[in-house]
Amino acid sequence: MSGLGTLNGAAPGALRISAERGQREVFCGLTGIIWLHRKIQDAFFLVVGSRTCAHLIQSAAGVMIFAEPRFATAIIDERDLAGLADANEELDRVVTQLLARRPDIKLLFLVGSCPSEVIKLDLSRAALRLSGRFSPGVRVLNYSGSGIETTFTQGEDACLASLVPSLPARPPREAANLLIVGALADVVEDQMRRLFEDMGIADVEFYPPRRSTDLPTVGPDTRFLLAQPFLADTARALEERGATFVPAPFPLGAEGTLAWLRAAAAHWNIDEAAFRRATQPAYERAQRALSPYRDRLAGKRVFFFPDSQLEVPLARFLANEMRMELIEIGTPYLHRSHLAADLALLPPGVSLVEGQHVENQLDRCYAAKPDLVVCGLGLANPLEAAGLTTKWSIELVFTPIQCFNQAADLAELFSRPLLRRARLVA
Ligand code: SF4
Repeated sequence: MSGLGTLNGAAPGALRISAERGQREVFCGLTGIIWLHRKIQDAFFLVVGSRTCAHLIQSAAGVMIFAEPRFATAIIDERDLAGLADANEELDRVVTQLLARRPDIKLLFLVGSCPSEVIKLDLSRAALRLSGRFSPGVRVLNYSGSGIETTFTQGEDACLASLVPSLPARPPREAANLLIVGALADVVEDQMRRLFEDMGIADVEFYPPRRSTDLPTVGPDTRFLLAQPFLADTARALEERGATFVPAPFPLGAEGTLAWLRAAAAHWNIDEAAFRRATQPAYERAQRALSPYRDRLAGKRVFFFPDSQLEVPLARFLANEMRMELIEIGTPYLHRSHLAADLALLPPGVSLVEGQHVENQLDRCYAAKPDLVVCGLGLANPLEAAGLTTKWSIELVFTPIQCFNQAADLAELFSRPLLRRARLVA
């Protein structure tokens, strides 16, 4: 088999990394509720916010609700600001009503937002107070999804970091367990679990779990692999509990997934023959499925605006596995150690921009005339109107894209807008 585990790239020193500050065009961290409520099936997200927050959550997520929703907004605005005591009473009343009506809720997140009335409320004290009142049936935690503190995917990080102190301690000197960190679609989790089992790693847990009553154990014998690149606070919280981070490229594409699995195999001293036996069939299937997309995408020029923090591993996949040309990789925040393996695999000379000055970036994008622009929803329309082809980065967070069986779906997400544009101009 050719190419197994051979990822070519440059030392990170060969990259051109710069930072930009200015106006930003990104969603706030409340957005994470849209995928987190689907993942943790007995959790409820109560946004403590304004009518704007309610509107964002309802319009972005409302279409996806088929059963009784598991998120809502407690509106705290000027009308309610007779005093902080009133706001706290109002919050307690909303929570009490909610929990009486919904006994299925086992984990309640109070999610903070931007309005000054909400910032003045001490949500961590409210969570403690309400946890005391409703324990042991319901655990109440809090985190911020405010647009002042968080961008788009940082809401997931804040949510998972807030839950880490609740993870049960792993008894000392137990065999090591592997924790996969980051919300993933169930089909992706099942596939990863099978691959680890075939490699001989049986004690694998996923965080967040599907039910809050199945929290994974954590302790000094825990090794964790990140499945998403935007989990800096969660990783730090796990390290504070004694867990050890396993560095790896992110599991995007055939090569990325193979390298990610290999990092775990190395920690568990799995021999090469066993590793190949477990991974080779799925790896080869993924390569075959990617091949037609490579023909379509090779040589096309791509520009990333900063949005999801998935930009670096996506760029690595598109350049190394799809042979696309990278013009600029914008990312809201660059976690150098979590992304070190992907950064090392990027082609030399690539321009990487951390942060955002949207006007300057738009100027560079228009001047470069890329074949494909990966950007947030707010920028897509003006860019399309200017004749550029766009891909919404939010889709890359909603769609299962990790692991071998999803590699072709990931490539398809980039090839579809190019096909659409080609039909339009034909
Ligand atoms: S940016 Fe702030 S006010 Fe707007 S929806 Fe997000 S949290 Fe609410």
